[in-house]
Formats: sequence, C-alpha cells, structure tokens
Amino acid sequence: MLEEVISDQTVLGERISFFRTPLGKGKKRLLLIGGFHGDEPEGVFLLERFVTCFKEKLSDSPDCIGIVPCLNPDGLKQKTRENAHKVDLNRNYPTHNFADKSFNPHTGVALSGSPGSEIETRFMMRVIESFCPDRILSLHSDLKVVDYDGPAEDWAREIAALSGYRFVQNVGYETPGSFGTWAGVERKIPVVTLETESAPDLAKQEVLWQRLKPVFLSFLKG
Ligand SMILES: [Zn+2]
Repeated sequence: MLEEVISDQTVLGERISFFRTPLGKGKKRLLLIGGFHGDEPEGVFLLERFVTCFKEKLSDSPDCIGIVPCLNPDGLKQKTRENAHKVDLNRNYPTHNFADKSFNPHTGVALSGSPGSEIETRFMMRVIESFCPDRILSLHSDLKVVDYDGPAEDWAREIAALSGYRFVQNVGYETPGSFGTWAGVERKIPVVTLETESAPDLAKQEVLWQRLKPVFLSFLKG
C-alpha cells in the first residue's frame, strides 16, 4: 500500500509526488527515484512496473519503501534532459562544488541554475529531510553502468551483479551540484546510480523490466 505523503507542482503545472509504504518501528528506509532527466523514460517505466507488479509484496516488505516515480515530469513531457527552466536537475543541488555550468555527455554543456533554485530540487531536499532514507537508488540511462556516492560501494557492486551492468567508481566526468554529491558525499547516505541501457519504446522498456526484475525483487527482501 503506497501513500502519497509529499507533493508539489512544477513550472508547467505537473505533479511531482513522493509515495511510501507505511513506516514501521525498526524498518530501514529505501528511496527509489526515477526521471531526474526527462529524456530518460526508462527509470519512470521501471518504477511504474515495480509498483504494479509487486503491489502485494510491497506492503509486506521488511523495509519501508519510498518512491519518487518521476522527478522531472516537465522534462519527460517535453522529452528534454532538463526541466522547464532548462536546468539540469542533477547539477542544481547546493553542494560545496556547485558550478554554473558543467559537462553533459549528450549536449556538451549542462546548465545548473543557482544552488537549489529549482522546484524539483527543493522538493527532493524536502523528501530526504522528512523521509531520512537509509539508502537511495537513482535510476538513469543509458550508460549501462552502476556507480555510487557516499558509503555505498558494496551495495553498488551487488546491484551491478544483479543487473549485469558494469560497476564503476564514478561516471567518468565531473558532476558538480549533483544529487549524489549532496545526499551521498555530503550527507553520507548511500546513493547508488543505476544507469540502464536505452529503451526508447514501450516494448523495449518491457524487456528491460523483465531483465532488471531481480534488482527490484532484492529491494523487497530487506
Ligand atoms: Zn540521467
């Protein structure tokens, strides 16, 4: 049973939501995030399938599971990596290494806005502060690697083994102002980033879901 506990509205009037299963004494808290980048629909699809396929199992899970199915619905709608302000939401966090511009593998340059300037960023900061997750998995595509921030190396290796993607220490380029830096490096919450393969249409996304099911089943075992 998932309950929407925090929500907000984007610039284009889309709803961003945080759902979670019931809190329970002694339960660990796992947060799953999809759709940081609007041109990466894979994570949004996977989380939707996770919720619909494992509805019953979710209520019985030993962990409390929190889900932000799509952080960037404006980008998803417009098929852009960035949000409606053309800001890369994974560079907008108020971290020690915040930079106005950074490298982006698709377009060359990622614009970061000013630290914490975006609704979606402040929403996510609220989710972290109120939910206090013990670990976080963020879904991206399409580099086919698993990396991590903060104390999450063992978990990242486990996710890599389950997914069949390569474990890497980092994504290979600087990501100032990233969510991983803010939550993982600076707040010491284990953050794993799962970069799936590209699955641009529903048929391919369904194949991806079937292949990655073991990863998601591992979340239901505590
Ligand atoms: Zn991404």
